[in-house]
Amino acid sequence: MENYSWLVKKQREFFNQGATRTVSFRMNALAALRTCIEKNERELMEALKLDLNKSEFDSYLTEIGIVLSEISFTMKHLKKWVKPRKVKSTLTLIGSKGYIYPEPYGVSLIIAPWNYPFQLAVAPLIGAIGAGNCAILKPSELTPRTSALLSRLISESFPEEYICVVEGTAETSTALLQEKTDYIFFTGSVPVGRIIMEAAAKNLTPVTLELGGKSPCIVHEDANLKLAAKRIAWGKYMNAGQTCVAPDYLFVHSRIKNDFLKLLRDAIIELYGTEALSSKEYTRIVSERHFNRLITFLDDGQTFHGGRHDRNRLAIEPTILTNITWDHKVMQDEIFGPILPVMEYNDVSSIITQVTNRPKPLALYIFSESERIQQQILDNISFGGGCINDTVYHLSSPYLPFGGVGESGIGAYHGRGSFDVFTHEKSILKQTTRFDIPFRYPTTKNALNKIKLFMK
Ligand code: NAD
Repeated sequence: MENYSWLVKKQREFFNQGATRTVSFRMNALAALRTCIEKNERELMEALKLDLNKSEFDSYLTEIGIVLSEISFTMKHLKKWVKPRKVKSTLTLIGSKGYIYPEPYGVSLIIAPWNYPFQLAVAPLIGAIGAGNCAILKPSELTPRTSALLSRLISESFPEEYICVVEGTAETSTALLQEKTDYIFFTGSVPVGRIIMEAAAKNLTPVTLELGGKSPCIVHEDANLKLAAKRIAWGKYMNAGQTCVAPDYLFVHSRIKNDFLKLLRDAIIELYGTEALSSKEYTRIVSERHFNRLITFLDDGQTFHGGRHDRNRLAIEPTILTNITWDHKVMQDEIFGPILPVMEYNDVSSIITQVTNRPKPLALYIFSESERIQQQILDNISFGGGCINDTVYHLSSPYLPFGGVGESGIGAYHGRGSFDVFTHEKSILKQTTRFDIPFRYPTTKNALNKIKLFMK
């Protein structure tokens, strides 16, 4: 196994010189990152096409554009975020002032998955740069063209003692995790998330874990069904369902189930036509191993739409499965593919019981016109985040911290959240020397009685 202690040492020495602490250094680095992305937009799209057959529209919307807008947002607000914040003091601390000083952790390690291989490596990097850290990026080995391009672009834009891409497999991650870094930001699966946290625990390194899980989507009887069908079809089948916040499965109210399923089929045909398998624009499954896992789910329940697949192209049609129960294979783990199982319900409280008995979802979506139903679900189910009457879009707002809860993750980023994740908030009490309150010392007469009065 490779040894990366030289790299961490080199970055720590660079960090300790203090260059990354100035706002101008961080702003210049963000500007350099933006320039390099803009200049290489075409190459990025080509790499994403080769790795996953992503369309240009999807590549721009979900990989390049989203990252460029995060950079703009960070650059717009960074000067304000880096400033020490004055906070209130209490009566017992009379004469003193309280401040919170944001400070970078030091050397950060960012481990990324393959499904949005550019965005999920670069979006955390924006937070690391904004907060004044050095960074080591480990992209996924399953998207080798994007990984190689990212490595080249970063090495052309930054010295390796500041930001460096290390390409490789799980073994490379394992080697990097042996080193003591100051922050670990991981995006990937729940089982690997556990491995990361265990490795981090050895050095007591703080972590953010952006994980996955089964994200439910509820279509209530009073929903705008046509719009729900279109927004669900878009959120589910984008990137061939290989999206951490894609609706994993549907709960559809039994009264509208048949009507809704027809609308969902129409929406799929409107977005992907009837021959998605041969479409040049339809994202493929990342590997044969993932393809093989997904096609076993096609035996579950009844196929209402789709179900065809092409092993040579590693493509699976947008598929809807009905007559599904929790016992089916497709309901055991996160699907992460273009297969949508549908379950029926009559009563929202039964959904609440079913979801709360399972690991907390990364996302949840509610389609309903009723504020009472929306509130009932929000009040009773814990999940990372989500949308009312939409899917996926919550992660595109820089004002909404994005992350999971419980098994779907620890911590949240995007916008100010990304800066906060990579920042330690150092609390400082600045005490006066003009006077010294006597009763703070136990030797002062009646100190205890006086302190009791102040501390009520
Ligand atoms: P993964 O966990 O298999 O791999 C993620 C990264 O970890 C890769 O760089 C990989 O090389 C590395 N890795 C794999 N095994 C490792 C090990 N044993 N030790 C150390 N590192 C290891 O995940 P994936 O298949 O690339 O991505 C899919 C998963 O990621 C899904 O579960 C999805 O929900 C989740 N995901 C979450 C988010 C989010 O923002 N919450 C976003 C995208 C994907």
